Amino acid sequence: MDRVFNFAAGPSALPLPVLERAQRELLSYPGSGCSVMEMSHRSAAFQGIADKAEADLRLLMNIPEDYAVLFLQGGASTQFSMVPMNLMQRGETAAYAETGNFAKKAAAEAKKWGKVVTVASSKDRNYAYIPEITADMIPEDAKYLHITGNNTIYGTQFKTAPKVNVPLVADLSSSILGRVYDVTEYDLIYAGAQKNMGPAGLTVVIVKKELLGKAADEVPSMLNYALHADAGSMYNTPPTYSIYIAGLVFDYLLKEGGVAEMEKRNAEKSALLYGILDESKLYTGSADKDSRSNMNVTFTLPSDELTAAFVKGATAEGMTNLKGHRAVGGIRASIYNAMTIEGVKKLADYMVRFEKENG
Ligand SMILES: *Cc1c(COP(=O)(O)O)cnc(C)c1O
Repeated sequence: MDRVFNFAAGPSALPLPVLERAQRELLSYPGSGCSVMEMSHRSAAFQGIADKAEADLRLLMNIPEDYAVLFLQGGASTQFSMVPMNLMQRGETAAYAETGNFAKKAAAEAKKWGKVVTVASSKDRNYAYIPEITADMIPEDAKYLHITGNNTIYGTQFKTAPKVNVPLVADLSSSILGRVYDVTEYDLIYAGAQKNMGPAGLTVVIVKKELLGKAADEVPSMLNYALHADAGSMYNTPPTYSIYIAGLVFDYLLKEGGVAEMEKRNAEKSALLYGILDESKLYTGSADKDSRSNMNVTFTLPSDELTAAFVKGATAEGMTNLKGHRAVGGIRASIYNAMTIEGVKKLADYMVRFEKENG
């Protein structure tokens, strides 16, 4: 069986031991006589799977009891709407940091519900850096500040949570579990699963319980956090198989040493690639050094021809999905938790060789 090193930004690689276990359990989940895909979400077997997934995520991220963990659908993009609809009344104000495409999309959805104040932006240099955000920048009437913790397309990342006096909301779709986050510094965290947690279809929301139950009556039930929280994320049929796989990922991460160990490995992996960029006369890193992501490494080459040759050569050697997003161009290597150090070393060797041959 040939498996490539998949550097895709999302959906992305999953840990091989997780896929192997899912394969073993595909036809019959132990003790149940059927596949998890065929199970009622109300069955004791599935409730056990969901409960363990939540408990393991709480362990991994050290999530306190006064936060609810929700397993929802609709991707991070649905959270762009749910956040404003649950944290403010129609016409109220929210603060947004504009650090990339997804940040802009989040603000655009919030604008349909209330007033958006862009308190910081890195648009002036195509989102190559994380702007500083301080408490005095936030309007007094803002109901929350929204940040995008990791800018998947641009390869930038907040290293610390901004210190502000309003609830802090973070889209951590592409960095959750990739570095240690102190959940208590945030009031609401959301993330689509398909980058660092599991297959597409599951969206995780971690929200302070005191923020729940304030949504206006006009908010559709499916978009109301409180209903999902009260129903233990089973208000309707949840994405059962995606929850199961994410649960296997959580279990695997705990056995590997948890998020601190992942952060260490991701630091090692990203340092290997950034080290090459810093030495190179061929590659130019897209993100400012102090804003670099440990999850998405972005860089450009001097011409479209060289970029295409780089991608083609890498693909031929079993390293796929390295083409950058069109908003930045060049190359993007997404090195989430499931990307092994072996895969990153292989890419690093290729980069050095490619520069020797084309520099
Ligand atoms: C991928 C991504 C999204 C979009 O996620 P969907 O699940 O496709 O809606 C939003 N924000 C960030 C930071 C992302 O990386």
